[in-house]
Amino acid sequence: MATERTLSIIKPDATKRNLTGKINAKFEEAGLRIIAQKRIHLTKAQAGTFYAVHAERPFYDELCEFMASGPVVVQVLEGESAIAKNREVMGATNPADAAQGTIRAEFAESVGENSVHGSDAPETAAVEIAYFFSGLELVG
Ligand code: ADP
Repeated sequence: MATERTLSIIKPDATKRNLTGKINAKFEEAGLRIIAQKRIHLTKAQAGTFYAVHAERPFYDELCEFMASGPVVVQVLEGESAIAKNREVMGATNPADAAQGTIRAEFAESVGENSVHGSDAPETAAVEIAYFFSGLELVG
């Protein structure tokens, strides 16, 4: 197992309901260290660039609107197999399918407004971290 870094976003539905602390506790309890974190309000265009891989999906416009609808907390999580571990803690995309105890099972409102984002592979993690953070902001 290797130490990895992954990009996490606490989405607008969760910041609106003041869930940042509860979600961060889930990451820390799973052994993930928050080595960078900031609260920002994305424009729709910035959200669109971040989610460009989904540009052809029917929910793309709705997703970009949602991600720009309120503040988000962007963060870098570090730990052993952090990418897979974070996705395990997040749970399935659709909260109806998410395992008990996961963030999405406990907090997500729908398949779209599902409280968190997490990178899905080392290559995407590197690109997504660089989209929001400079090297100096990552304090491991
Ligand atoms: P994940 O975030 O679990 O990696 P995807 O990469 O498939 O999931 O989708 C990215 C995001 O797009 C999801 O987290 C969710 O916010 C949104 N999304 C996915 N599927 C749908 C859908 N059927 N309807 C609306 N929004 C969706």
